[in-house]
Amino acid sequence: MERNPARRPGALALQVQAAARDHFEEIARIVTTEHGKTLDESRGSLRRGIECVEVACGAPSLLMGYGLENVASGIDCMVMRQPIGVCAAIAPFNFPAMVPLWFLPFAVVSGNTFILKPSEQVPLSMKRMFELLAQCDLPPGVANLVQGGREVVEAICDHPGIRAVSFVGSTPVARLVYQRATHAGKRVQALGGAKNFIVVMPDADLDKSIPVITESFYGCAGERCLAGSVLLPVGEAHAPTRERLIESARSMKIGDGLDAGVAMGPVISGAHRERVLGYVDRGVNEGAKLALDGRQAKVPSDGFFVGLTVFDDVSPEMVIGREEIFGPVAGIHRVNTLEDAIKVMEAHPNANATSIFTSSGKAARDFAHRATASMVGVNIGVAAPMAYFPFGGARDSFFGDLKVHDRDAFQF
Ligand code: NAD
Repeated sequence: MERNPARRPGALALQVQAAARDHFEEIARIVTTEHGKTLDESRGSLRRGIECVEVACGAPSLLMGYGLENVASGIDCMVMRQPIGVCAAIAPFNFPAMVPLWFLPFAVVSGNTFILKPSEQVPLSMKRMFELLAQCDLPPGVANLVQGGREVVEAICDHPGIRAVSFVGSTPVARLVYQRATHAGKRVQALGGAKNFIVVMPDADLDKSIPVITESFYGCAGERCLAGSVLLPVGEAHAPTRERLIESARSMKIGDGLDAGVAMGPVISGAHRERVLGYVDRGVNEGAKLALDGRQAKVPSDGFFVGLTVFDDVSPEMVIGREEIFGPVAGIHRVNTLEDAIKVMEAHPNANATSIFTSSGKAARDFAHRATASMVGVNIGVAAPMAYFPFGGARDSFFGDLKVHDRDAFQF
């Protein structure tokens, strides 16, 4: 299959970038309106999406092949990167603008055609983005938007004309999509759910760490695949970290994401709010200690709000210590040593991201080398790599070989 002239991919990416930048505030507001996260969070996520478009500008270099002349007398051998054909991406609800931009720019600048299926819970951000794409120099039929739920996903997995599928969502669906689409002979990358552990060492600088840890657990109302889920304070870090986290969580203003000063918006839907509150009840029944009860928090009545919650004495056997809650609920599990923290973390089937808070270079280095989560942070709460590094989890957080972003995106 022949690609467009080499000058085109970079120029095309620049057009897409300009379209997103020129309508930045408008798209960010749509994200907040349909999802609920704060306007600053929407802006931040859209910025991250645009960074992917910028990396895609490097297509002419990244799509280069290589070769060797005279491998036998008069014979040259060359590797050429060719488009694969029709690529599809299936997105989750939590980043309506960013996640689709993990795929669209790389697929189209590499000469493929592309189908996007956003989450049926947030169809509007991409509807607007595709209206803007229609004004770019894309031939008709190159970028396509389909709305819908499970039946559309199944049709994408099965359709013989689609050659590659990228999926982002929960682990059970990621596994299903990976199995079904690979069975149909497609190239697949499927990013799944997470249970991210945050280790706090006794030598951590809590003045600097607590705001970052709070953001990790409660930013985007906890609806982030890189969100902190279980805090593992080591030894004497336990009491001060718990107290400071509670104090910090109490100070976060909950409300409409469009209002200035609001730090946390609602969760995505009434059904999801019930699910998150169900986990809180479950934690209480399982014997975890409810150190901050979000059910008692004062929240606006006109939205799917959940108060910030902290559980102490959470163990890995408890449902709240094991399953992804995807809401503003932090669990604390005290451990005695860094070794114990690593054991707890490594025993979990998900391995998306993890972070350590410490002022010891040795502890940071040990942790970075031994943690098998794909994305490891030191003194940062959300270990999100820039778009010129690969992104994706390990174990049950990722099914496939090539990750998203960066060179992997081009190879995929
Ligand atoms: P989800 O798995 O419910 O849905 C994801 C997509 O799959 C949606 O487009 C949806 O329409 C479709 N879908 C849902 N159920 C399906 C089924 N039974 N069969 C076929 N298709 C189905 O996920 P969600 O609730 O939209 O998003 C939250 C999840 O996504 C969390 O688990 C979160 O950790 C994960 N996530 C992961 C990453 C990552 O990078 N690993 C990023 C964002 C979100």
